[in-house]
Amino acid sequence: MLKTRFAPSPTGQMHLGNARTALFSALLARHAGGHFVLRVEDTDAARSEVVHAQALLEDLAWLGLHWDEGPFYQSRRQDIYAIHFGHLQRAGQLYPCFCTPEALTQSRQQQVAAGQPPRYDGRCARLSPQEASRRLEQGEPAALRFRVPTAATVAFEDLIRGPQRFETASIGDFVIRRTDGTPAFFFSNAVDDAEMGITHVLRGEDHLSNTPRQILLLEALQLAIPRYGHLPLITGADGAPLSKRNGSQSLAQLRAAGYLPLALVNYLARLGHHLDTPGLLSLEALAAGFDLAAIGRAPARFDPVQLGYYQKLAVAALDGEAFVAFVGEGAKRIPEHLKVDFARAVAPNVAFPAEGQRWVDCLFTDRPPDDLPPDALQAAGADFFHLAAELFEAHEGDATAWTRAIRERSGRSGKALFIPLRLALTGREHGPELRDLLALMSPERVRCRLQAAEAICRAPAVQQ
Ligand code: GLU
Repeated sequence: MLKTRFAPSPTGQMHLGNARTALFSALLARHAGGHFVLRVEDTDAARSEVVHAQALLEDLAWLGLHWDEGPFYQSRRQDIYAIHFGHLQRAGQLYPCFCTPEALTQSRQQQVAAGQPPRYDGRCARLSPQEASRRLEQGEPAALRFRVPTAATVAFEDLIRGPQRFETASIGDFVIRRTDGTPAFFFSNAVDDAEMGITHVLRGEDHLSNTPRQILLLEALQLAIPRYGHLPLITGADGAPLSKRNGSQSLAQLRAAGYLPLALVNYLARLGHHLDTPGLLSLEALAAGFDLAAIGRAPARFDPVQLGYYQKLAVAALDGEAFVAFVGEGAKRIPEHLKVDFARAVAPNVAFPAEGQRWVDCLFTDRPPDDLPPDALQAAGADFFHLAAELFEAHEGDATAWTRAIRERSGRSGKALFIPLRLALTGREHGPELRDLLALMSPERVRCRLQAAEAICRAPAVQQ
């Protein structure tokens, strides 16, 4: 069975980058009828936090990316890692390393100064077994290092980037268990992929250089090696890596701003991945159209305008109840029997809850429209609004008859007719259909707004 996984480290909030990795992994699994596994990589106790792990789970669930297996927590899998450390130990493929962080930094600096790539200099690999045992018995803190085979080549076919080759000569022996006894990332990540039967690993390009190390480990352990696909990073509109400075936001921030999960997944599914079908798709449809071959190799640029486009589609697709919930607290003002009509009329015209709220205020409160531009009203003139109010008495409840009568009597038509009416009633030139607005507003409120517009036009112009 095809199995993918999302393996976040709970050291911070989930951002667009890891959300996309999670999404692609989930879509790949769903596309193939396989499983999507969730694994929390929390072995680094100093940096991992339970609140982050909890938030990651909530973010994934909010996105609709439900996992078929897990969540597994690496911090609870020490026994499994111990077995695999034992295997390597017996095969002579690891050794204790007593080098202090200071000694390692110094050696790295010397290598860089000499123009060499920094890698472990192998100091502890050369200790005799007696010497190593003696130091361990004396209680000297030791990490465990993996003995990287010399002069070998690691080759693999990346699912996105094609053939890859790495020479082991450039890979120094690396730590697989820290001095505090916890497994290092390379180790627990690779062992768990094998233990959990992961067949396809999709992860950020920043992990590409880790892959040959993990393949070497899995080979040494005689465990199954998954296929790896490294996703190009996401950049900001300026081409620089996505960061707070150029628009990166956490999912928590996006959610608080009113973005809908369906908008995000639709946008992310097209970020660096070409999808043939346009428009707002369900997760099932996104999975059906997901194709590894359609993932580009170039960095993917984050485009807030595109995200906004899917947000509008997702809002417009909300049904009455969901739209009212989206608008939030203030929607309580909407009379029960008008909620469905309100949603149908307003949802296609807003992208965020605050905009929906503004329409609630406009249609159901006495608060005058806040952005009435007097000049635009003046252009229609006081008599126009007076006439509109007069004709409203005869045609209340029939928007078509009302606007037809105004047209016939005022000689205004098209925009010249509708824009001043919209402005008077809502304070805006655009928005839901006039007919729908009239059906939602009370007749008293319509009269009041028309009279207010007339009064504005009759008021003496303010001298600037
Ligand atoms: N815990 C790693 C990370 O968050 C996982 C990398 C991987 O997917 O293999 O970067």
